[in-house]
Amino acid sequence: MKKICVVGAGFSGSVIARQLAEQGFSVDVFDTRPHVAGNCHTERDAQTGVMVHIYGPHIFHTSNERVWNYIRKFDEFVPYVNRVKAHAQQHVYSLPINLMTINQLFGKQFSPSEAREFVKTLGDQSIDDPQTFEEQALRFVGEKIYRTFFYGYTRKQWGMEPSELPASILKRLPVRFSYDDNYYSSKYQGIPKNGYTYIVEKILDAPEISLHLNTAFSREMAAGYDHVFYSGPIDAWFGYEDGRLSYRTLDFEVIRAEGDYQGNAVINYCDESVPWTRVAEHKHFTPWEEHEKTIVYREHSRLCEGGDTPYYPVRLVRDKAQLGRYVEKAKSEANVTFVGRLGTYRYLDMHITIAEALEAADLFLKAEKEGVSPSAFCIDPLA
Ligand SMILES: Cc1cc2nc3c(=O)[nH]c(=O)nc-3n(C[C@H](O)[C@H](O)[C@H](O)COP(=O)(O)OP(=O)(O)OC[C@H]3O[C@@H](n4cnc5c(N)ncnc54)[C@H](O)[C@@H]3O)c2cc1C
Repeated sequence: MKKICVVGAGFSGSVIARQLAEQGFSVDVFDTRPHVAGNCHTERDAQTGVMVHIYGPHIFHTSNERVWNYIRKFDEFVPYVNRVKAHAQQHVYSLPINLMTINQLFGKQFSPSEAREFVKTLGDQSIDDPQTFEEQALRFVGEKIYRTFFYGYTRKQWGMEPSELPASILKRLPVRFSYDDNYYSSKYQGIPKNGYTYIVEKILDAPEISLHLNTAFSREMAAGYDHVFYSGPIDAWFGYEDGRLSYRTLDFEVIRAEGDYQGNAVINYCDESVPWTRVAEHKHFTPWEEHEKTIVYREHSRLCEGGDTPYYPVRLVRDKAQLGRYVEKAKSEANVTFVGRLGTYRYLDMHITIAEALEAADLFLKAEKEGVSPSAFCIDPLA
């Protein structure tokens, strides 16, 4: 039986490892970190007893039946609806922008159809062919909504003017004309009772899987394996020989306090004058637990440099051209499949990550059966 290596013990790597282990393959899993679950890692805070999402808040949501049935084999999910609030210009608003937000911002009592007509009058119709994020936002929602909710937040999150970002970021009208403030529209939404790390530990708990934490895997180590699934950064695999792909990283300012700090799990800060982008109070993700103390993360975004944890791929024109060169190299690499958010340089929610990992394992097994080489990618990273 072939020997498989999986680089990264996040959802991508772990799901692939388990799927292949169940087919009898012997799988070595490596991760540089001292824990599994990658950026979804959760850990109970010793001082407050609260389950903390160490790399930022994670809410599970999906409409994919296969993914929902898969993930619930490893833990119970408690239904959870993410209702985000916004601090902007000395007021608190409901997000995503909905009928409540519009009525709050303009001091009105609009019905859905009145609000729809009103927002139409705000949009700058003189912008025929929006090229930038700013033009697109102004065309859709006009100056006041743009300045209140988008301008400062976008500048802080991406470190650049919205006029430097492509219009494609804002594909649809970012407003709901109802009081629905559920952040996601997925069929299933929840938080795992025991946290994400518990789930990934269970996924990796199979006799065919050997886990090597605190171990960085490099290209030279691939020689000992018949096939490698790599969920690390694609540019790192090639020693950054075509330069580093840009990412944003996050710094978390940790605050511990008594009682309830902000009354909600996530509050976004839209004003440019406030240095953080959002504040997450972790105990609100587990409302079934009781804690007297609380732990809060203030999230600051900045450009990712060597040694930082990559969070959000920037994916602007320059990065895409650079990615294209790495993709070409990856396609001529024998016996390596690049997967996950870092291996394909895309922002992926957990359910997409899991769906793609299941698909990667299926495609590998199919290629094995047919006696052909598995492909370097299961999706097109440039799409
Ligand atoms: C701030 C933030 C909030 C998010 N919130 C949500 C949310 O609410 N809901 C949602 O569905 N999704 C959310 N996501 C997305 C979620 O984090 C990803 O879907 C998920 O982490 C992707 O898993 P992965 O396995 O592809 O990558 P990762 O979790 O990054 O795992 C990759 C692993 O590979 C390891 N690695 C890399 N290189 C090497 C190497 N050379 N050798 C050994 N190990 C290596 C890394 O240490 C890492 O552990 C959020 C993401 C961010 C950044």
